[in-house]
Amino acid sequence: MSPEQEKNPTPTVNTTDVTKVNLMGMSQEKLEDFFVSMGEKKFRAAQVLKWIHQLGVTDFSEMSNISKALRTKLADVAEIYAPEVIKQWDSSDGTRKFLIRVGGGNAIEAVYIPESDRGTLCVSSQVGCSLDCSFCATGKQGFNRDLTAAEIIGQVWQAAKSFGQLQENGPRKITNVVMMGMGEPLLNFDNVVDSMNLMMNDHCYGLSKRRVTLSTSGVVPALDRLGQYTDACLAISLHAPNDALRNELVPINKKYPIAELLASAKRYIEGLPDVRRKITIEYTLIDQVNDRPEHAHELAELLKDVPVKINLIPFNPFNLSNYKRVSNNAMHRFQKILIDAGHICTIRTTRGDDIDAACGQLAGQVNDRTKRSQRYKIDTVALMNSDSDVIPVKMIQ
Ligand code: SAH
Ligand code: SF4
Repeated sequence: MSPEQEKNPTPTVNTTDVTKVNLMGMSQEKLEDFFVSMGEKKFRAAQVLKWIHQLGVTDFSEMSNISKALRTKLADVAEIYAPEVIKQWDSSDGTRKFLIRVGGGNAIEAVYIPESDRGTLCVSSQVGCSLDCSFCATGKQGFNRDLTAAEIIGQVWQAAKSFGQLQENGPRKITNVVMMGMGEPLLNFDNVVDSMNLMMNDHCYGLSKRRVTLSTSGVVPALDRLGQYTDACLAISLHAPNDALRNELVPINKKYPIAELLASAKRYIEGLPDVRRKITIEYTLIDQVNDRPEHAHELAELLKDVPVKINLIPFNPFNLSNYKRVSNNAMHRFQKILIDAGHICTIRTTRGDDIDAACGQLAGQVNDRTKRSQRYKIDTVALMNSDSDVIPVKMIQ
């Protein structure tokens, strides 16, 4: 990466007082309860949400439609801070990557991808990931911790701020959000749901439910609960047309096999009031592993009664993996088989190559890795022997 692609934005806000409550990640309901508990009216919540998420204000003294007395009271008990952007890279294709500090020597990444008709922000939900999919850089680093709701919505806030979006009549650069960065969103359920609901809240970012997508590798019990809390779009990371192959690529499949996962995804989609919605199926194509014509035929058959659109993602290599990127021929042959079978099937173009911002390459690299605290990954033996819904993890030595 060239020096001109690298920028070091000034840290915006940071916390100093752990006794104060951070309002950044609070859902509207929680913020209403907070105001009621202070003896204030509920509508204050909507006002404060607008200040934070539409106008980028973190200082209560600037909240001009709130009385001075309440502003002082708020400053005593609360604060507003997003996680700090350590570095920002701009790719020659317009992609922007953010490296965001989350404490303990750790960092996460968020990526903004502009296209002709939209601007998509790819957001992280955890520091690392325990699920250890064989082709994923995040999985290779193990799991460290869940992000807080403030750290999740804080990525949207920081990205929006970097584009000058958070001001009166600011440009609406972020039109879509996908929970496809680091981590498994359904293993950080409450914080992810609260953050997605802030993204869709009209007092905040006001994104339509068709423009916020949760991607999961298939934590079925959590997916079964999702519809009670949100109506965002759903993407399933499938990557294989049968259990034998998927067990190798996506170890959580041993606990929740394909049939259970697709049935749960179908229930979610069918539970939404909007009948035209489809499940996005993500299929990362790896050379000689899952890219053969027979895989495509098997996939077409597997999905024939499921309302899906299929998104093929060429595998993005990273240095801890021996897998190779699919050839263009194999990828287009794969796509053609699915289209000929009547499926909607698109290819995700790789963006931000020059700044390591492509799918699966997000590793949150910080200079000092020695400070990293303990890391965990899925314990596949315990997983197979367990009846519980909890995903067992073991420490990485
Ligand atoms: N944990 C969630 C969301 C984060 S991963 C999930 O697995 O769905 C987001 C997407 O990137 C997933 O579809 C994942 O399979 C894909 N991905 C991971 N590593 C990749 C790689 N090296 N090349 C291409 N896609 C990758
Ligand atoms: Fe985790 Fe998703 Fe990567 Fe699998 S693909 S290791 S679930 S982040």
